[in-house]
Amino acid sequence: MIRPRTARVRRPPGTPLSLPENATVVVVGGGPAGSFFAIRLLRKTRQAGRAVKVIILEKKREVCFYTPLPFSSWEGCNYCAGGVSPRLVDGLRREKIFLPEEVIESRSTEVVIHGDWKSILLAVPEGREMLSVFRGSRPRQRAGRYVNFDTFLLHLAADEGAQVITAEVDDVRYSPEGKPLIDYRETMGDVAYCGNGEPDSGCAKPGVTPDTTPGITLDTAPGTAPSASQGNGTIEADFAVFAGGVNRRPGMDMRDDPLLTALQKMIPRLRPPKVRKAVIAEMRDSQARVRLVEGEMHFVQYGSRDLRIEMASVMPKKDWITVVLLGKSVDRAQPTASLDLVERFLELPNIRRLVPRKAELVARCCCNPNMTVGAARNPFGERVALTGDLAVARLYKDGLYSAFTTSSALADCVLDEGIDETSLAKHYGPVVRRLHADNRYGRIIFWLSHWVLAHPASSRVLYRAVITERMTTPQHRRRLAPVLWQVASGDEVYRRALAGMLHPASLWLILTGGLLLTLRDIVTETLFGLDWTGVPRYGTGVPVEQVEETRNALFAVQGVEPPPRAPQMESMFTVRIRAGKKAILKQLGAFGDPDREYLKPRFVRIHRVTGEPNQVGTVIRYSIPMLRLSFSVGLESVVPDRYLLYRIVEGMGEGGILAFLLDELRPGVSLLTIYVGFDFPRGRGLGRIGWAMGRRLFPEFAHDVVWNHSLCQIRHLAEVEEG
Ligand SMILES: Cc1cc2nc3c(=O)[nH]c(=O)nc-3n(C[C@H](O)[C@H](O)[C@H](O)COP(=O)(O)OP(=O)(O)OC[C@H]3O[C@@H](n4cnc5c(N)ncnc54)[C@H](O)[C@@H]3O)c2cc1C
Repeated sequence: MIRPRTARVRRPPGTPLSLPENATVVVVGGGPAGSFFAIRLLRKTRQAGRAVKVIILEKKREVCFYTPLPFSSWEGCNYCAGGVSPRLVDGLRREKIFLPEEVIESRSTEVVIHGDWKSILLAVPEGREMLSVFRGSRPRQRAGRYVNFDTFLLHLAADEGAQVITAEVDDVRYSPEGKPLIDYRETMGDVAYCGNGEPDSGCAKPGVTPDTTPGITLDTAPGTAPSASQGNGTIEADFAVFAGGVNRRPGMDMRDDPLLTALQKMIPRLRPPKVRKAVIAEMRDSQARVRLVEGEMHFVQYGSRDLRIEMASVMPKKDWITVVLLGKSVDRAQPTASLDLVERFLELPNIRRLVPRKAELVARCCCNPNMTVGAARNPFGERVALTGDLAVARLYKDGLYSAFTTSSALADCVLDEGIDETSLAKHYGPVVRRLHADNRYGRIIFWLSHWVLAHPASSRVLYRAVITERMTTPQHRRRLAPVLWQVASGDEVYRRALAGMLHPASLWLILTGGLLLTLRDIVTETLFGLDWTGVPRYGTGVPVEQVEETRNALFAVQGVEPPPRAPQMESMFTVRIRAGKKAILKQLGAFGDPDREYLKPRFVRIHRVTGEPNQVGTVIRYSIPMLRLSFSVGLESVVPDRYLLYRIVEGMGEGGILAFLLDELRPGVSLLTIYVGFDFPRGRGLGRIGWAMGRRLFPEFAHDVVWNHSLCQIRHLAEVEEG
């Protein structure tokens, strides 16, 4: 048969070709892009009182029907970390797609951006929601693995009226009438392809017998039983959508894909999108231990000298942790080296501290898929269009959201504008181009942020700027944290996020709150002989909006009202510690001991004069022999496992307090708050000069620097103690 390269239906020039009544629309690929397209098209068609037949061809083989679960499953994996961005959450809500709780693996409460100096913790802003899901039925050891995002969406599409055929498409061409002819091959009898080349035994849910009848199709009406298959064959479509993504085989060479070759014959100007290799791996741990990192979403933009990582994410799920890596080391590695790369990544000091120690890397769930990092050129032709990853994806971030955006725009165009090349170019093309154009800004953002976060000096300056702003500026007026949040969560288009990053006000904050204060910190650390070697660094600053609340909490523990005004010198610090209260109290009990491993500033002698660790009556003396200055703090009250209140009993700041407050955030995770507050005595004569000097010698920031260092040490010691 002669294959026309492009075939056009004759119609008056300039007249769009509309989707006919009862048209057959074939969707190749039942991933998110394919399902989103089908759901929107079917819903809108129904609303318009029209009829359309949507057939989804999805190659993943098992269609497991069982009750009482409202799901069936497409066996296999879609090689994705499953982060659902806030914008996608909004989009799903708008589209009235409500993810069932069983599909949601976690809800993030904070995003952690790792820098070489310290990590920046960003709370998920109020009103924003960030989720994680599993995309497919892998890892195989996962309980309830058939409940997943892709299966849910595909079922929703089926409930809306789509017919789903378990089949793989290798060829497509135009019929003599100019309609797409899609050749499919049923895959029910095939062995499912696992990322690692492992064949899968099939729908192996315990106690459930999979329906393995060859060529099962899911009937169009909700709740009806699967009907007999159409078998291998060809479908003539009025319109065909290609939503097969870029991983028909994980990490496939796009130039060798027969389907893309066939598509290029139909759309000669089509150029597939650029892809980049990624590594994805799953780690298993007990739910209790994964809970230690519950609610956290980690982004890492650096590796080491030997492990060149530009972008990595660590995403805790119920009792799994998904790790994704991208970077030069991944680009250069053979697929067989993927596991080794993940193991080396997990050995990086900050990652070792992050991932629960007993989490086990599941070797069979590690693979080397493609990630779309560019846009296809001309992803549409007469009666055909590409969507999702095959058209474009947001750079390194919410590809699921771009699949949603492109597929929704395509469905609208097909129904409202036309299915001819000109209509698609006019109404669908701009959506793809906009995402592509925005990715250019994304590229600058990721280059900049990788550069800043990968270097200790620049990442320290950035960290300092963010923490200074957090400690001094009310939340609604901050600039830096929102920009970082937008980049990390994908909650803003890259163009606006970059504009926010490079805004003169942001640069000013980085200069004044970041660079200058970092220099001051370094001088102070040098003066007090504080060495960071071997000390893991953690954020300890309390946001300005929490200062009063924290102060009130401290006084509430004592059952007294807080003073009407803040003392002249007030500092508070918090650190989250992955240890129980006992291990932390043991460290606090070492306060004043000669062999303590924290709070040892040069020139200052701190020792217990009397009493027992953590016991009321203990007195600890601070002295600076060189200046003949001293003061003592006495442990005045203790609330067991919660609170230690030291009062300055003599010397500078007499009457002031030093308090330690412990809260359990969740089992195994505690929050330690340290509060220092006192007024400087006025003194008389020479005394007055002495106190004025003391005030200058130990300004607030000196306390901050010393306590910040000590808190990081306390956290480390407590965590090591807990194992
Ligand atoms: C390592 C990695 C991590 C990622 N993490 C995230 C993340 O956390 N959050 C996020 O938003 N995005 C993430 N992405 C991007 C996201 O996975 C994609 O953007 C998204 O899956 C695109 O959806 P899609 O439907 O276009 O393609 P896919 O998800 O690839 O779905 C394509 C479907 O088509 C089927 N198919 C393919 N070819 C054929 C054929 N010839 N015949 C029949 N069926 C076929 C496949 O079986 C599959 O079900 C990640 C990507 C990678 C590589």
